[in-house]
Amino acid sequence: MPDANCIFCRIVRGEIPSRKVFEDQNVLAFHDINPLAPVHFLMIPKVHLASMMDLEEGHRDLFGEIMVLAPRLAREQGAKDGFRLIVNTGRVGRQEVPHVHLHIIGGGEPLGSMLPRSKS
Ligand code: AMP
Ligand code: ZN
Repeated sequence: MPDANCIFCRIVRGEIPSRKVFEDQNVLAFHDINPLAPVHFLMIPKVHLASMMDLEEGHRDLFGEIMVLAPRLAREQGAKDGFRLIVNTGRVGRQEVPHVHLHIIGGGEPLGSMLPRSKS
């Protein structure tokens, strides 16, 4: 169900502009407004799902499509030597926008380590 105030639902509806990377019936990909690397775009399902915590068996095909699309779009955008796919989820994952989204980040030099290790 679309969420009237959800920023990414509003992007899906065209109420907020985005720099589109890909769109079909189920999926939208657009450049992150605050990129962390030469390639940084987001992939979202058009349907409003707050986070990955809300995925169910019925979302298998939708997320299968997204996962298969990710490397194709990454290559097309210039991430030829790999990328990092990040899905921040919920409070612990420090998700800021509550509409599930995959970050695809790459395109330049190797990225920093996955998470900083605290010194013990
Ligand atoms: P997260 O912390 O995983 O929820 O990341 C949210 C991401 O959405 C951040 O990288 C933001 O830069 C990005 N973002 C927020 N608003 C927009 C927008 N209007 N268009 C494109 N990206 C956005
Ligand atoms: Zn939404």
